[in-house]
Amino acid sequence: MEQISKHVFVETDRRGCDHGFVLTSDGVVMIDSPQKPSDAVRWRTEIERYGSVRYIINTEPHGDHWAGNAFFDAPVIAHEGVRTRILETDLPQYVERVGQMGPEEPKLLEGYVPNAPALTFRDSMSLHVGNHTFRMMNMPGHTPFQAAVLIEPSRLHSPSAKVRSSVALRSATAMVGNSFLAMAAAPSGSA
Ligand SMILES: [Zn+2]
Repeated sequence: MEQISKHVFVETDRRGCDHGFVLTSDGVVMIDSPQKPSDAVRWRTEIERYGSVRYIINTEPHGDHWAGNAFFDAPVIAHEGVRTRILETDLPQYVERVGQMGPEEPKLLEGYVPNAPALTFRDSMSLHVGNHTFRMMNMPGHTPFQAAVLIEPSRLHSPSAKVRSSVALRSATAMVGNSFLAMAAAPSGSA
């Protein structure tokens, strides 16, 4: 796991997408989830050290971004096309495929029910959690339903107008395609 700014963590070393999470003042917001069930369980243990998961944002309809949602008790947000694709997935076939990823997987997949997005958008949506704002934007890439996520410290909590006016893009991590676009717009890298 890599810490790419004060509050943004990304895992780049697992099978599937590069998933991450943002530590807000009111809990954790995950961006995508691990595909392999045993990775999802380990990720859950890792995140629990930081706080409870409030929301999961999925950036793609492909299973390597959402399969692990099921291991977290949190509502999922995504483009409505992501929800449609998940609901149309041939689940027995998908579970069988994921079950072949390793010896620990089949047991973890017993009774598997996908945690499909409960909250969806078409063009854009903002989510406010604690001192962060997440702006999801439909940004078609290798599927029409990709989303980029802009992560901003909430302006309501900015200490002063001076700080607000000095907000600059200090850390912009673009991982479009296999991952999410996290642009932490922050004074002194505090996003
Ligand atoms: Zn994909």
